[in-house]
Amino acid sequence: MSDLKVAIAGAGGRMGAANIRAVANTPGLILHSAFDRPGSPAIGRDAGEAAGLARFDIAIGDDPEAALEGAEAIIDFTAPTVSVLLSELAAARGLVHIIGTTGCSKEEDWAIAKSGSAGARIVKTGNFSLGVNILQGLVRQVAAALPDYDIEVLEMHHNKKVDAPSGTALMLGHAAAEGRGVDFDANAVRSREGHTGARINGNIGFATLRGGNVIGEHTVMFVGETERIEIAHRATDRGMFAAGAVRAALWAKDQPPGFYDMADVLGFKE
Ligand code: NAD
Repeated sequence: MSDLKVAIAGAGGRMGAANIRAVANTPGLILHSAFDRPGSPAIGRDAGEAAGLARFDIAIGDDPEAALEGAEAIIDFTAPTVSVLLSELAAARGLVHIIGTTGCSKEEDWAIAKSGSAGARIVKTGNFSLGVNILQGLVRQVAAALPDYDIEVLEMHHNKKVDAPSGTALMLGHAAAEGRGVDFDANAVRSREGHTGARINGNIGFATLRGGNVIGEHTVMFVGETERIEIAHRATDRGMFAAGAVRAALWAKDQPPGFYDMADVLGFKE
């Protein structure tokens, strides 16, 4: 079988570079094109060189339609409005669309899922690491086993991150709500400030730290009257997210069009 031809969206970004390296190093995938936003300093650079590799003779472009010509998959870690638009282009062309972008609104997530029904093979998750997806299952179990413990999710990321709480923190919060059998939105407290009053029983709280070059750290705390359980994950290299993204691309190419997450890719769903 021939290699899956991959277009990298956001090629000039931190994850874009990691994704170019992952595609180049993964048997069964071949870099087809790379693009970024018009005006990005990455435009015109060689995709291989921009990712710290040898020259590929693939220039980073600024036109998604041109980049998708002849492509079979997109790996997209960009911004919510961009991922919505790309999902529509992927649906029209029946492409694999791997989405790592976080900070999407409900409406944006809905539009992306709709592209899955319209012909794209979409895998979207707030965290492509194997470790975090395992952590999600643990959080679900502990939340169910300790119904009276207060749940707080603490996250820290680098100082360029634009959305909060992180997509991963929200994923972990959703897992806790599922474990408890409660509605996430009705119980989530995404930030606190001023005279908040006492903590309401059953809330799932979030706290956000930003600084330096921290790739991503998450701790889920279950706080009881006499003990505290902490389940933590620390990312030390973006290559781990990219490894998950290319694994998802290889998995999705053999699936019917639809909207999937990493639990589908890893076979964690019953
Ligand atoms: P970044 O700012 O370094 O990269 C984003 C890139 O997208 C930039 O180069 C930007 O110019 C480009 N971009 C913006 N508009 C575009 C457009 N219209 N067309 C093409 N490219 C466009 O950010 P990053 O650290 O690489 O993170 C990107 C996203 O991925 C964020 O939402 C982040 O939270 C998310 N992320 C997800 C995971 C995961 O596992 N799901 C892991 C890390 C980061």
